[in-house]
Order: sequence, then C-alpha cells, then structure tokens
Amino acid sequence: MTQSHLSIQGVSKRFGLYTALEHVSFAISQHEFICLLGPSGCGKSTLLRILAGLEQPTTGRIVLHGQDITTRPPAERGIAMMFQSYALFPNLTVAENIAFGLREKKWTRTAIQEKVAEVLAMVDLEQAAGKYPGQLSGGQQQRVALARAIALAPDVLLLDEPLSALDAKVRQKLRREIRRLHEETGMTTIMVTHDQDEALTMADKIVVMDHGEVVQIGTPEDVYNRPDSPFVADFIGAINFFEGTRFVGHLPDANALLAIRPEHVRLLDHETECGIPAVVESVEFRGSFYRLFLQVQDEQESTIPLRLTIDLPAASAQRMRVKRDQKVLLELPLEKLLVFERDAWKGAG
Ligand code: ATP
Repeated sequence: MTQSHLSIQGVSKRFGLYTALEHVSFAISQHEFICLLGPSGCGKSTLLRILAGLEQPTTGRIVLHGQDITTRPPAERGIAMMFQSYALFPNLTVAENIAFGLREKKWTRTAIQEKVAEVLAMVDLEQAAGKYPGQLSGGQQQRVALARAIALAPDVLLLDEPLSALDAKVRQKLRREIRRLHEETGMTTIMVTHDQDEALTMADKIVVMDHGEVVQIGTPEDVYNRPDSPFVADFIGAINFFEGTRFVGHLPDANALLAIRPEHVRLLDHETECGIPAVVESVEFRGSFYRLFLQVQDEQESTIPLRLTIDLPAASAQRMRVKRDQKVLLELPLEKLLVFERDAWKGAG
C-alpha cells in the first residue's frame, strides 16, 4: 500500500450561509499528480487555498506527513502554490523573481545562484535570466512562475488553473512540460482545472467535484470509462443519454438511464446487417475524426425524438462517404452501454 502523504479529512467551508465545501475527504500518495476537476464554482480553488493555508476550513483537518497542518501559516507548510495570474514582480528580472523566496529563506548567495540556474534550465529558460517579465510571452512567464514555485522544493506543489490564460498551442506544450517537471522532481502535485482534457491527459488521479462535494475519485481511465454518475459521464467527455426501454427491451430495468460515448456507437456499412435506422442531420470535420449528429428513425412512434452524436474515424467516414440527409444503420454495442438509475440525473454544470 502506498503511504498516504497528504490527507484531507472532513473539510467543510462556509462563507456566511453559503457552503463552498461539504465534508471533503480524500488522501493523496507521495509523488502523485492529482487534478481537481469540476464546473465553475464547485469549490476547487477554495480547497486549494485551504491546502495552501490561505483560507481556514470551517470544519475538518489537513494532515501532511502525519502532522496536522490545518492552522499552520502558509510559509511553514512545505506547500507552494502557483496562481493563474503568474504574480511575478514586474520590476525584478526573471532570476531575481526566482531568487526572491530563496533570499527570504536566508539561502547563501552561491546556493541561490546555483538553484536559479538549475530551475531555469528545468523550464528551458536559461537565456531569460536577465529579462523582465514584461519582455516575456505569457507561456514564458508561466514557466518562470513554475520555476519560482519549484525552487523551494516544496513537498507539495499546488497549481491553480496554471494554463487557462494561455493560447491552445502553448497550453498543450506546457501540459507536457509540467508533467515532465513533475516526473523529474517527484513533487506531489495538485492542480485545479475545469478543463476535462487537461485533467485526462495530465493526472494520475482525478478528483471530480460538484457543488462543494467530491463525486468521484479515480484514474483518468476510471472516470472516463466507468463514471459513477450521469454527472461525471456528462462532465468528462461527450456522451449520449437515452431512456432504457427504447432499444434494449430485454434490459430488466425500465427505469434505467442509458448512456454511450460517441466513439462507441457503430455505423454499419452493410445493407444486410440489421441495425437501428437513422438519418444524418449534420456532419462536423474534427481533423482525425468526424462528428455526426443523427436523428434516429422512430419506428415505435415514441413522443421523444432521439438524437445521437457519434464520432467516426476520418478514414471510415470518408470510406462510407457520410453526408447530410444520408440514411444509416447504427449499432449500440451492449458492452459499451453505461447504465444509471434514471433519477440519478441532475444535469452537469
Ligand atoms: P472557478 O473554476 O470558477 O474558479 P471554483 O470551483 O474554483 O470555481 P471556488 O472559487 O472555490 O470555485 O468557489 C466556490 C464557491 O464559493 C463559489 O460560489 C464562490 O462564489 C464562493 N466563494 C469563494 N470564495 C469566497 C469568499 N471569500 N466569500 C464568499 N464566497 C466565496
């Protein structure tokens, strides 16, 4: 069993009458990369600020290495936090920005110089040591902020939406860099994001939050393939929901809410195969795949028209020449269907 390194025990946070966090408990192992994922306002940043010591929980404890650090001041926790806005000092050079925290800790001049050079090399910014933040791009400033946070070799690194201010290309690159730095330093890392792709690509474990509560904890594969609730299924990745009895008449639970990911719906390309008839309403080219929006042909005269979204690899879509108004046959592989209680659905977001 891996040793629990950081544990969050029954943490609640109220702002006046408003409950931002409700009895949040989970443990994080050393060297893990955790993403706190959830819609805006679900309490991710509040939890991160409590871990950093910038906020006190109303109830509950934070335990690091077996010690209760709930009331310990931020600077004495061995936890560093990097904010969304890089919060660099504009009038200090890159090197001075990184040196700042080390000076406060009374490091010697030589030790500071060595450390600054080491962390700048880690983020590939050796050349920028003498520049001012204003002379750097957003991505470079974010890397300086990252270098500054890791210079102190904290036990735990907290990242609050570190990539959200950057454009898509830079964001992709920095995702990999943050992950690489994590692997090089072995620092336990907790990152807040509302971006499901970011969480899926970067995390060892995702903590999904909704309305101040943890609703699922698991590996990216777990939360994507085996979501515990319709909320998680819907929040992470695209998904189709439909009622249980329409296609799968032999399922015993007529009250089931069924769901299937767009990439799991199969388009049959042989006239002879039996399948569910549908019409292509629109087609979106997405690069490596096409996303089709289909209207299922309603043979049972049900009152609810059923629309499905499906993703087809580009090569298959081109081979089958899919286009608007085309009639197609679908198959929903039973082993790919997710089944929920119908009343478990509250809606995401
Ligand atoms: P986002 O992704 O939008 O930053 P979040 O999940 O990080 O959202 P939090 O910033 O943790 O959400 O906020 C959770 C809730 O607590 C929000 O409704 C917010 O308005 C409220 N809240 C946060 N800080 C305070 C505060 N100091 N006083 C009052 N309410 C607050």
